Amino acid sequence: MPSAAVVGGGPVGCLAALGLAHRGFAVTIYESRPAPISSSNGSAAGPSGSTARARSINLAISTRGISGLRAVAPALPGKMDLADMVLDGAVPMRARMIHTGHEQNSQAYSADGECINSVSRTHLNDLLLQQAESHPSVTVCYGHRLKRADFDKGEKARKGKAPADAEGECELMFGVDGQESPSVVSADLVLGCDGINSAVRDQLARTISFDFARSYIDSLYVELSMPAKLDAAGQPDFALDPHHLHIWPRHDYMLIALPNPDHTFTCTLFAPAGIFEEHLSGREKTLAFFEDKFPDALPLMGRDAVARDIAERRPSPLASVRCRPYHYKGRVLLLGDSSHAMLPFYGQGLNCGFEDVRVLLELIDRHAEEEEMPRPTAPAPTSRTHSRSDSGVSMSSRAPSPRALKPHAVSGAHPSTQALERALAEYSATRHDDLVAICDLAQNNYYEMCSRVVSRTYLLRKHFDTLLMRVLPAGWWSSLYAMVTFSNLGYAAVMRREERQRRIVSNVAIASGVGLAAAAGVGLARASRFWAQRA
Ligand code: FAD
Repeated sequence: MPSAAVVGGGPVGCLAALGLAHRGFAVTIYESRPAPISSSNGSAAGPSGSTARARSINLAISTRGISGLRAVAPALPGKMDLADMVLDGAVPMRARMIHTGHEQNSQAYSADGECINSVSRTHLNDLLLQQAESHPSVTVCYGHRLKRADFDKGEKARKGKAPADAEGECELMFGVDGQESPSVVSADLVLGCDGINSAVRDQLARTISFDFARSYIDSLYVELSMPAKLDAAGQPDFALDPHHLHIWPRHDYMLIALPNPDHTFTCTLFAPAGIFEEHLSGREKTLAFFEDKFPDALPLMGRDAVARDIAERRPSPLASVRCRPYHYKGRVLLLGDSSHAMLPFYGQGLNCGFEDVRVLLELIDRHAEEEEMPRPTAPAPTSRTHSRSDSGVSMSSRAPSPRALKPHAVSGAHPSTQALERALAEYSATRHDDLVAICDLAQNNYYEMCSRVVSRTYLLRKHFDTLLMRVLPAGWWSSLYAMVTFSNLGYAAVMRREERQRRIVSNVAIASGVGLAAAAGVGLARASRFWAQRA
């Protein structure tokens, strides 16, 4: 049985571990944080009771995330699958609520009633960790922080260049909480799921020629909260409509609020560093800023709570990561934020990370299957399995159903080394354009959320998209947001398709403009003839 070390027990690491366990790997997750108190091997229980407490943001999960959750394992009859379990604790949001000055304006996300789902990061991560811990082929080691890795250890041992004590291809060294000496382990496959500051990525960069860039934007974010209000019967109720993602766009900065199942909202203020320094230092200034800019939100959040939270919480930076390649031989692969941390403005970071897992598992299944059943003819174009088609996409039909899982996932037979090597190489070669595309889209969406959502051109285009989506046959036209959020179409194909649609819209606008100008010209000519005749 091949062994896999998943470095990072965040949501992407847990999902990838479950997917590999279903494909015959003996998986160990190494997570640097202490174990949650509820964990079955929680001897090193941390004070927080959760591995994810350090970033207690709630997240919006949509189609790509849900497809990723469904891709790991076959559904058991009558049992909830992973996606059902996650959605069970989520609050669906059907629209954005734009809070301008004194007005509220609801903008539906989809013409077909599709929604995004607000889930607590803590709940999601703990749920996935519990699922991983209860799988017989997965072990979770908390308090393990990766320090060093040698991804050629097995090869060196075979060539007599290293002691032949390692059982796997790679050797990993972890610092362990409460232990002086490091722990050295080996594994055949290493998945780097250790987030934006990935140590696996650092080690990969020491092994191969590796492109890497991390860029920060000037804006920072801080999390605030909006408590539940009490209804007439004294029961807790939401202070705002819970089925909306609330946005207070203010051009250079914005406040957003996502609902939680306990009737509270988690609010996030995104603003340039200068705003934090100038307007959010000290109680008086902070309250004056909120009274001026977010007068309707402040009383709901509570003046004291806002002043206290702004004073106590250090704003966090926002960065994106780009790198290439994502793999090394059949032994190492980067998934999730370690390979493509992005700005949070499209709500796609985790959705994309879960999609990484789905794409990887599909490639592993296909290469394993092709190896077992060699065909005389060339296989169909690869990598296109994750919806590369640029047109005629039915937005919801692309989500793979668990019943579509390949025999490997169902039987638990593991892929050969060669099949794995081909799958990882293909992942690196074909996933890059999609990851670059979503990082770009996420960056552009900051401007859209802060400003464009209230501009006339934006609203006109939104109405035009909605109209065409209603009148044209399914899949002929789709808004950029719907393609990103409610489909599994590759992100790069989404960008190409949007570019084509944008050209059509501007041609229609030009044609209408020319038509109107021509009509006006004819009208003017007739009018002047008429007045000339009368004169
Ligand atoms: P992480 O969640 O960062 O997990 C990495 C894990 O690795 C952690 O548990 C960490 O402790 C562990 N680790 C780190 N280093 C080591 C080491 N050396 N050894 C062992 N373990 C290690 N995404 C969405 O899809 N929708 C949203 O609405 C959304 N909103 C967001 C809002 C904000 C403000 C931010 C900042 C992000 C948002 N995201 C959203 C992005 C999302 O949070 C990330 O994309 C997602 O958490 C990435 O998951 P991951 O498992 O790859 O990494």
